[in-house]
Amino acid sequence: MKKILIVAEMLEGEVRKATLSAMAMAKTVAAASEGTYDVLVLGDGAEAAGEQMSSYGAEKVITCEIEGGYVCERYAATLEKVVRDGDYTIVVATASAFGKDLLPRVAAKLGAGVASDISGVDVDGEEVVYTRPMYAGNVIGRLKVTSDIAVVTVRQADFEAAAPDDEESDLESIDMEQEEVSSKIRFVGLEQVKSERPELSEADVVVSGGRALKSSENFEKVLEPLVDSLNAAMGASRAACDAGYVSPELQVGQTGKVVAPKLYIAVGISGAIQHLAGMKGSKIIVAINKDKEAPIAQVADYFLAEDLFKAVPELTQAVDQAKADR
Ligand code: FAD
Repeated sequence: MKKILIVAEMLEGEVRKATLSAMAMAKTVAAASEGTYDVLVLGDGAEAAGEQMSSYGAEKVITCEIEGGYVCERYAATLEKVVRDGDYTIVVATASAFGKDLLPRVAAKLGAGVASDISGVDVDGEEVVYTRPMYAGNVIGRLKVTSDIAVVTVRQADFEAAAPDDEESDLESIDMEQEEVSSKIRFVGLEQVKSERPELSEADVVVSGGRALKSSENFEKVLEPLVDSLNAAMGASRAACDAGYVSPELQVGQTGKVVAPKLYIAVGISGAIQHLAGMKGSKIIVAINKDKEAPIAQVADYFLAEDLFKAVPELTQAVDQAKADR
């Protein structure tokens, strides 16, 4: 029987939707192993935010107020203590910047094995096998964690957000644990790029542009109208980000964000293996590329062999027209 602890991620006093992917993984493992799961919410405003998590079928939602912004060293000791005191066998968070930063430190403190960035999980009784894409998705690793506690991070794009249950969880509030080093670290501030558009890793539709856009002006004039017509998030290839056409946080791929929207439109993107690693889980992939032989054709459900500077404005116009006709 597995006893699982989900580590919730907070932003500006709320639990982020990304947490629901870790929750989905926990629900799967708990159901298959007749286990249970609890949630730990850490941060500024955790007690109020904990209420948000109390309708997802967890036995218990534990909250711990930690003032100021997130700093790994200020969170890790509390998480370690909760895991030890609660005899948890699996600790899971979503593989966001938060999960990727916090969980390795906690794993080291616990002497626990890690399955990071997993895309799937199989449970057979007490045995849990994690699936993990490796080498830009060219190899799928299947691994077991042999230590008593397993620390796991899950790919948000591969675990559909858990839905609320009818069950109400118990709420418990605990005090923060400090490790000595945390007094030497101070949270200074968080600078966020605010956008009216949906968040890239959570959007249903993503429109990404590549090097072929040639400039930031073309991203603005040619691609953005299509992005906004479709109420989509905007993404980009690394070549477009490196060239400074758009900000690096829009990068999709092995070293960028992993997305799996219902619709992914790749505009002027060749489809290098490192880009595919970040989007090939999308439900429907559309590619607009003037080269029919471009590798993106191998994963595209629809391929338009056309100059993007002609095709994208036409497509935008067609979408606007269809919306007006509704
Ligand atoms: P290009 O490869 O130059 O492709 C441009 C495409 O546009 C071509 O297919 C061309 O036919 C088409 N085109 C040109 N003009 C037009 C036009 N007018 N109309 C229509 N189509 C046109 N890349 C990522 O994207 N994400 C990553 O996370 C990432 N991580 C990496 C990590 C490592 C370690 C390495 C080595 C590389 C990584 N890369 C990543 C880079 C990757 O290998 C490619 O170089 C990059 O994805 C190419 O970007 P692109 O498709 O925009 O450009």
